[in-house]
Amino acid sequence: MTAKIIDGKQVAAQMRDELKEKVARLKTKGVTPGLAVVLVGDDPASKSYVTAKEKACEEIGIYSDDNRLPADTSDKDLLALVDKLNKNSKIHGILVQLPLPKHIDEDKVLLAIDPKKDVDGFHPVNVGKMVVGQDAYLPCTPHGVIQLLIRSKVTLDGAEVVVVGRSNIVGKPLANMLIQKSKTGNATVTVCHTRTKNIAEHCKRADIIIAAAGRPHTITADMVKDGAVVIDVGVNRVEDATKKNGFRLVGDVDFEAVKEKASLITPVPGGVGPMTITMLLYNTVQSAEKTLSQ
Ligand code: NAP
Repeated sequence: MTAKIIDGKQVAAQMRDELKEKVARLKTKGVTPGLAVVLVGDDPASKSYVTAKEKACEEIGIYSDDNRLPADTSDKDLLALVDKLNKNSKIHGILVQLPLPKHIDEDKVLLAIDPKKDVDGFHPVNVGKMVVGQDAYLPCTPHGVIQLLIRSKVTLDGAEVVVVGRSNIVGKPLANMLIQKSKTGNATVTVCHTRTKNIAEHCKRADIIIAAAGRPHTITADMVKDGAVVIDVGVNRVEDATKKNGFRLVGDVDFEAVKEKASLITPVPGGVGPMTITMLLYNTVQSAEKTLSQ
């Protein structure tokens, strides 16, 4: 079997069109969704993520408020900015680009964001609400994975899912969302990590494998059941002398071999990646919509 490719760019474009319409409707009611992006320092990868997020906002009509601070910004100054953004009624979402410079207490900054504006879904209030199945901002990458699965008509109800990775931003929230008693959950989930004894045995049982380990070739063809759905969250740089920048991006899945066994598979790049920013826009629009009912 050769897998059908799940085109993340196409699904993201469809969702962004839906969001564009929502933004236009909000504007007729006098509300322009606003996202504040905060970048501390000049890490090149973070800079390019922030630029991509701001461009995506602009494309669908969200106002983006750019806050770039020098690398030596103090905790106090950053917290003061967050406080100002919390109080600004034009801002519906606040995104502090991670990682922050080492001298800043990341947890303290994330805790300072008003949970109502926590469009990254990292604040413990939102994490807690998600776990108990209450309305919450869902973290963008895991939510993007769920949307990819649903929009590709993959049945989650009763499915055996193996998530490889247990980070706070991908693996743990994803596993939590998938076990919720809801129409976007109801899966039976196994979470694997570096202390799991036989990852291959778990994966071989899975109807759906989601790889979020951050290691190339974590999932090889012999670990995949015929017809399984394989979602690759990983983004890894591997040296490639044929590329101008000297590297190429690969996922955690041995794509070429696994696509011959899976029924559906996401590529890297062009799979989960485009969904992450889209879900950030989704949360920002959701936050702006909530102001209408307040
Ligand atoms: P992370 O914080 O480094 O966590 C990686 C997790 O994978 C850890 O739980 C680790 O286990 C586990 N792991 C590592 N190697 C493993 C192996 N060989 N076998 C089994 N488990 C293994 O990474 P992350 O932030 O979750 O990100 C994961 C990957 O997704 C990265 O490549 C990242 O770049 C990518 N990512 C992509 C997007 C996107 O938008 N496409 C967004 C976020 C992340 P332990 O807990 O035991 O150490």
